[in-house]
Parts: sequence; C-alpha cells; structure tokens
Amino acid sequence: MQLVAIVVSLVLTAVAVALFGRAAVEIVRRLRLGQPVPKGQRTDAPGQRTLTLAREFLGHTRMNRWAPVGVAHWFVAIGFLTLGLTIVQAFGQLFQADWTLPVLGGIVPYEMYIEFIALATTLGIATLIVIRQLSLPSRAGRKSRFAGSTAWQAYFVEYVILTIGVCILLLRGLEGALHHVDGYRPAYFVTYPLVAAFDGLSTAALQNLVYLVALVKLGTTMTWAITVALNTSMGVAWHRFLAFPNIWFKREADGSTALGPLQPMTSGGRPIDFETVFDEEGGEDTQFGVSKIEHFSWKGLLDFSTCTECGRCQSQCPAWNTGKPLSPKLLIMSLRDHAHATAPYLLAGESNETTDRPLVAPAAESGVIDPDVLWSCTTCGACVEQCPVDIEHVDHIVDMRRYQVMIESSFPSEAGTMLKNLERKGNPWGLAKKKRLEWTREVDFPVPVVGQDVEDLTDIDYLYWVGCAGALEDRAKKTTKAFAELLHIAGVSFAIMGGDESCTGDSARRLGNEFLFQQLGQQNVETLNAAAAKKIVTTCPHCFNTIANEYPQLGGHFEVIHHTQLLQHLVDTGKLIPVTPVEGLITYHDPCYLGRHNKVYTPPREIIGRVPGLRNEEMHRHKERGFCCGAGGARMWMEERIGKRINDERVDEALALNPDIISTACPFCLVMLTDSVNGKQAAAASAIKDDLRVVDVAQLLLESVREPDDGDSQARTTAPEPAPEPAG
Ligand code: SF4
Ligand code: SF4
Repeated sequence: MQLVAIVVSLVLTAVAVALFGRAAVEIVRRLRLGQPVPKGQRTDAPGQRTLTLAREFLGHTRMNRWAPVGVAHWFVAIGFLTLGLTIVQAFGQLFQADWTLPVLGGIVPYEMYIEFIALATTLGIATLIVIRQLSLPSRAGRKSRFAGSTAWQAYFVEYVILTIGVCILLLRGLEGALHHVDGYRPAYFVTYPLVAAFDGLSTAALQNLVYLVALVKLGTTMTWAITVALNTSMGVAWHRFLAFPNIWFKREADGSTALGPLQPMTSGGRPIDFETVFDEEGGEDTQFGVSKIEHFSWKGLLDFSTCTECGRCQSQCPAWNTGKPLSPKLLIMSLRDHAHATAPYLLAGESNETTDRPLVAPAAESGVIDPDVLWSCTTCGACVEQCPVDIEHVDHIVDMRRYQVMIESSFPSEAGTMLKNLERKGNPWGLAKKKRLEWTREVDFPVPVVGQDVEDLTDIDYLYWVGCAGALEDRAKKTTKAFAELLHIAGVSFAIMGGDESCTGDSARRLGNEFLFQQLGQQNVETLNAAAAKKIVTTCPHCFNTIANEYPQLGGHFEVIHHTQLLQHLVDTGKLIPVTPVEGLITYHDPCYLGRHNKVYTPPREIIGRVPGLRNEEMHRHKERGFCCGAGGARMWMEERIGKRINDERVDEALALNPDIISTACPFCLVMLTDSVNGKQAAAASAIKDDLRVVDVAQLLLESVREPDDGDSQARTTAPEPAPEPAG
C-alpha cells in the first residue's frame, strides 16, 4: 500500500507541477497579447492598491460579506491559502505514517488552527454545494445565476475541495490514534471523535489507512492541478490565483468600482485626441475601439480569465432579467473562451478562421458577441457593482461599441437620429437652441441667463446646468421649474447657460461615439470656462456624472453637485421648510447614474423623509442593487424589441407596494417610469391606482414647501452653513 501510494503520488505530483508551471507561463504570455494601458494607470498608488486588495480579500467586501455565501466562501478561500502545509504533511506521512511537520507540528495553536480551518473549509464548501443545488438552472431556468455557467467545472472544483477537506480531517484523526491521544485535547478539538473511532485499530491498519488517505488527498490535489493546467480558461479554478492581480490592477486604486466616468479611448496605450490624432506620427495606424480580442488591454484579458462564472452580475442585469440575450457573465465568458482559443495562433503569428472571427456579429456569421447582446446594455453598472473579482464589464462593452459606431457605422438605426441631432443642434431631439429657454417663461420669477442677464458667473452661487431633457422634454421640464422655484424660494443665486448649453455627450459616449463626445464636451468646457463656472448644480444624473467625472479628461474642472444634494442642504439649513403634508405611500427609484455610478443614495431619501405625510417604502431592488429604468447607455434612443420592457419590469416592482407616488431624481428615469405607468393605466391591465404619480423629488419638496392655502412660496432664511461636498 505504502509503495503504491508513494509512487502514484510522486508521479501525479511531477506531472502536475510540470503542467501547472507551463500553464502559468502560458497565461502570462497570453495576457501580454493585450494592448498596453496608459502609463501609470493600473499601477499608481501601489500602497493603496495593496491595501485595497487586502481589504477586499480579507474582508470579502465585494461578496455580500455577511450573507451565507460570503461567509462560506471566505472560509474556503482562507483554507485554500493556509492549508498548503497539509500537502507537505501528507507527503511526509507517505513515508512515515506518524510523521509530523518539523517545528510547527507539535505547536498546539497551529494544530488547533488546522483543525478549525479544515472543518470550516469543509463546511463552507458543503454550504456552497447546497446553495448551487438549490438554484440549479434546471429548476430556476433563466432566473438561476448559474444559468450558462460551465457546470462540470464548478462541480469538479467543489467536490475536490470537499474531498481534500474530509481527507485532512481523517488524517488528523488517524494521526491522533497513532499518537495514542487518549482523551480530549485542544490540538484535536475537532477530530477527537475520529481519534476515538480509530482507537481500536492496530498500528499496521492505522498506518495503511494513513497511506491510503494521504494518497487520496494528494491524488485529488494533483488531479485538480493537472485538470486546471489543461484548462487555462477554467475561471472557477484560476480565479483563486488571478483574482489577486485582477483586484490589485483594478481601475480605481482606492477600491471603488469601475463606474462613473468612462475611460478615454486609447490606442496602443495612448489616449486618442481626435483633434490631433491624424497629425501624429503613426496616426493612420490608430485603433479606434475594439474589433479583435487582442485589441483589449492586457487588463481586459485578465478580467476575462478571472471570471468565476458565479453569475452575480447576471442575476442583477436588467437586460437579462427582462428576457434579452445579454448576460454580462456570458459576455465575459464568450470573450474569455475566444481569447484562449485564439491565443496559441496569435502567439505563433498565425491567422486562421478562429483568429478571424468577427468580434461583434451574429452567430450565423461566426460572431463572438451578437449585436443584440452588445446593444442591450444600459450601462447601468449593476454587473460591475456585483462582481466579486472587479471585472469591468461596462468599459469592455463600450470599447466594442466604439469600433462598431466609429468604424463600422453599425448600430441600431434609431440611435442615428439622436446622433445627427446632437451633431446639428446639440440636443438629442434636434430642437432649436432658443427652445432651451422656453421653460423660463413659464415661471413667475426671473431666471438669469449667462451672457444675457449676467456677464458671467463670478457673483453667482451656482450655475444651474439644466440639461437637454430638463429644458426640452415636457415631463422633465416640471422638475426643472420646480427646482428653479425652490432655489428662488431659498434665496440661492443661480443662472443658466440657456442656448449656450449643449448636450454633455453622455449618450453619444455610451453609444460609442467618442468623437462626438469629445466635440460636445470640449465645446461645453470652453463655454463653462468662459462663463467662469465653478459650482454647477444639475437635475440630471447623466449631466452630473459627465461634467463632474468625465470633463476633467477634457480639461474641465468644476465642482458639481446633484440637485438632491443641494436641496437636502437647503432643507437641513432651514432655507427650505417643508410644511404642507403630501399624503401617500411613496417609493423611490434610484437612478443608476446617481446611485451606483456616483454613490448618491441618501439625499433624495432624506428629502422624502422631511416631507410631512409621506410614507416611504423601498422596492426590493434599491440602492446598490437598484434596477435600471432602461434609459441608460443611450438605450433611451433605441427601440426595445426583445423581451419585456425594462421600465415595465421596474414599475411592476413598484406596483407590488401599491404606492401613491413613484419618485425619482433623473429626467430620463422620470420619462421611462411615466411612460410605463401611463401605459398600464391606459390598459388597466394591472392593479394600479388611477392617481398614481411619477414625480421628481424636487416636485414633492416644492409641494410641501408651498403654503397649503394660497400656493404661494416664501423664502425662509437662516444662518448659512457649509455647502455640501461637490463631486468634482
Ligand atoms: S451594465 Fe447593466 S445592462 Fe449592461 S451588462 Fe451590466 S448589468 Fe447588464
Ligand atoms: S463577471 Fe464577475 S460577477 Fe459575473 S460571473 Fe464573472 S466573476 Fe461572477
């Protein structure tokens, strides 16, 4: 028995070490096929990156820390890292059954730790196995987060860990019996029952059992290593190694998610400036967006290889949840599989039908990513928010869109109208500039316009950036007028840019038209700088995100706050006093670009909480898990032909609370939710109150600030307090 165990274990180990080493080298070579990233990006603030990695790993901060899955996975991960010496122990036991590790072997705290972590790892993996079984795609179908994951790989990894955990515990029990442990001792506080169970066996029998169990443990470990080495795309196994660099090199060194600003378009690791790109040496070779797997950066390729197929992203994706073909998990898996399939040929400098597969094309044309998948994304960021290993889905999706739009001119045709309108008129509806001022004639207080009523913003508290929807869309204009009136009541001096305001370029950028985004952005930055803008407030989270987070990429640096932040401040400082009750049950919908992308969750809720009469109830999916309205990522300008409409899904969730008011803080959400509510009210198909309203938080606050009897507004002033923290 002993000889067989030694020979088999050593042969398997030799093969495993050789194959694993080769696979590790291969993975590094494959990652190097990716494009460089701009200098300093991904390696800035190394100390902070290391802290972020330590926090994310040790705290499992990206994995619902206290949920059963998070706790179970934590023990499995810690066990994987710290049970390595049990492999050495098992090798020693092959040669001498009662062998113990030098130095550590007799130290009680070490032995207690091994007992504890082996048990915790075993129970942890058993928990994960049960959780998977309870949510199998065969039962839950598309609702299962494991739908589309590679089942055999997950089972293989799970049962390997379970087997190894059980073997460690059995070996501990056998060791105890061989060492004649004759009563409960701390060093065997877990396995003493096993020690007692093995007690009656002869020494020879115990020794043979040790050889057998050590063989099973080592054989299982090495079989795992061989299998993993032969399947370099097996993310469920490789993430144990790749997650560490993937987190360390994540986009934001401080640990925040890769949301908020999109990254500038790069070619060969250098940001593209469309004004100068063709004047530069080698400009004609510039790569616009991603059309081949090797056009992704090495970090992109690392992202793809790190995916564990856990499906957390998929479970939150509004596209997937409404029957569309996009699953962020399946998208990443497709890119990963293609990357691994093409790598050997790319490394050999060969091209063939695998390397020549179009990255974005229908399956009938051998495309890796179907166009319907690519264009279903609302860039809501739920996937990025959920991913435990910090994969940056949105950036990859937009990179592929950039090539499709800028080089292929291939995108849903409806969005073309929006792009043309932006080019010609600076707003997505193609309306005349002067229309941006129409709302100012519908209010009974002066709204100063920069360049007309005031020379610049030097003596003005805030530039109110109205946004295209806020100025031109009837429903969104109600928010604009309400917010302006609140500023007027509170005595805050503000001005608007009027016809000099252009679309910020949010939709153009997320559709993939980086050129148009840069054009619009540079024009706006110049206008804002000329107007001496410093503090900007906006009612649109998309404008908020773009001006605060993306205009710095174009040289525009402004302090930007969202209107809910300013309104909360005005309420807190007594400049706005909600007095009139607004009766009813309200539920608040988090706009993705305010919430997930910019972490503004509290101010709208605080305002709602200050309005007397309102009873707030949260929808199941809220804050970080908020569900998109369907308008982001330029989806506002595309038809939604596949599956259930996302806004209907969201309104159905709200209707489950039977609310009187659905509130939000974004003009696009307002339009999407209102459309759905109107449709449902007209169809009378579902239980929906006839007087259900969809309103911006500002409208609610205005209703409450106004006196109940005459509807007039009054300013209430108290001592000023520090302004809220700006985003930019
Ligand atoms: S950003 Fe939103 S819509 Fe796009 S893939 Fe991620 S979860 Fe799905
Ligand atoms: S992308 Fe992230 S969240 Fe989605 S399946 Fe992969 S590891 Fe899980």
